[in-house]
Amino acid sequence: MPTDRTAPDRTTSRRSSNADFVLDISDLGRRPGILREVRRTVTAPERIGLDLVAIEAGADVELDLQLQTVSEGVLVTGTVAADVAGECSRCLEPFTDRLDIRLTELFAYPASATDETTDEGEVYRIEDERIDLGEAVVDAVGLELPLRPLCTDDCPGLCAECGIRLAIAEPGHRHDILDPRWAGLAAKFGTDSGGTATADGDTAALDDDPTIPDARTDADRANDTNEEK
Ligand SMILES: [Zn+2]
Ligand SMILES: [Zn+2]
Repeated sequence: MPTDRTAPDRTTSRRSSNADFVLDISDLGRRPGILREVRRTVTAPERIGLDLVAIEAGADVELDLQLQTVSEGVLVTGTVAADVAGECSRCLEPFTDRLDIRLTELFAYPASATDETTDEGEVYRIEDERIDLGEAVVDAVGLELPLRPLCTDDCPGLCAECGIRLAIAEPGHRHDILDPRWAGLAAKFGTDSGGTATADGDTAALDDDPTIPDARTDADRANDTNEEK
């Protein structure tokens, strides 16, 4: 019995169960070319979105849609707008944003060619002369929202050393403490490889290449000749 009580929370049938998402189209008829505007604000029956960002349960979802009958069903176009709340995937701070989605979906008539030639889940369907926008909204929001949302486009994230949020850390935040294993290497190379080592290396490279001194000499001679004349 306890199992039965909690089960409905997990079933997919409850996903789109806000009646406000359901549009009765029985009065539209099936003649193509009939238009109807639908503007309404629906309360999200549950959280709609992804793990890190979503429309919160209870938030307003504003529908501004046009229904148009076509031969295969009803074409729903328009916008779905809502506030979303999320957690930055880089710095883990909560943030809010506005979502504005363009929706274009065909809801197929029962026994239409589309209905009979597509698999379930491939196309939305009209059932009992009703269009349930809930599933379409859930799908569209899921596709629109980013899997790795950011609080700002240039969020600097967290300090890898201490975990502080770099956006609120002092400018140039860094840690001078060297790992003891690297400290030994730094001491060794600190004296051996200075400016002199680099200069020596450059000279050696030129000396090892037999073509370069000759080329230089030729060029110098040419220059000398030109300058003298
Ligand atoms: Zn962030
Ligand atoms: Zn730090």
